[in-house]
Amino acid sequence: MIETFADRLLAWYDRHARELPWRVGPKQKQSGSIPDPYHVWLSEIMLQQTTVATVKPYFIKFLKRWPTVDALAAADIDAVMSEWAGLGYYSRARNLHAAAQQVQSEHAGSFPKTESQLKSLKGVGDYTAAAIASIAFDQRAVVVDGNVDRVIVRHENIREPIVDVKPAIRAHADRRTPDLRPGDYAQAMMDLGATVCTPTAPQCLLCPVREDCQGHRAGDASALPIKKPKPPKPVR
Ligand code: SF4
Repeated sequence: MIETFADRLLAWYDRHARELPWRVGPKQKQSGSIPDPYHVWLSEIMLQQTTVATVKPYFIKFLKRWPTVDALAAADIDAVMSEWAGLGYYSRARNLHAAAQQVQSEHAGSFPKTESQLKSLKGVGDYTAAAIASIAFDQRAVVVDGNVDRVIVRHENIREPIVDVKPAIRAHADRRTPDLRPGDYAQAMMDLGATVCTPTAPQCLLCPVREDCQGHRAGDASALPIKKPKPPKPVR
């Protein structure tokens, strides 16, 4: 049987998944652990526009102080804002607190499971809803962030600026997303983009999907994605 893109990526993820404080990795899953939607949601909100390295200590600090979504909902907003200090984009902290209260008042204290319900929570947009549905609840959702854009553009050797080909990238992402283990697949794509198919120096020799990567075959994968040329400055 020919292995699909997802098969190869998941086999790689089983061996090389990053250990992250909010993640239930493949080994933990095998021993019966399941993701906590509160952890997944909190991490996804913190990771918006922010690096993993910056988020880690904040995530640990928040969980220590508010170990459950109920505890966060009952917290004083000033305390939440003060723990968030330094993480930036402060509307996220206000939305976080409001969404925790929505989980209590509108969903009887349990996180909703579908993308559309998740999107009704404050601060949860398309990407975040797909990521939570997929990672926390193993729903088949199409998760497309900057890492996924880059991997797909290179794997398909798409030589147009990403902004011009968003629907095509989404269609490629949809086609590759498996029915089985969609949550692990989404995290595997994030890890591949963050550790192997990196923006400036993709490590193609270590890549599990190198075999049919057309960007690698073309020999200049690091030149992708193509940047949109800036419009010429007006001349007086
Ligand atoms: Fe990225 Fe290279 Fe893998 Fe292609 S082979 S997906 S360019 S790391």
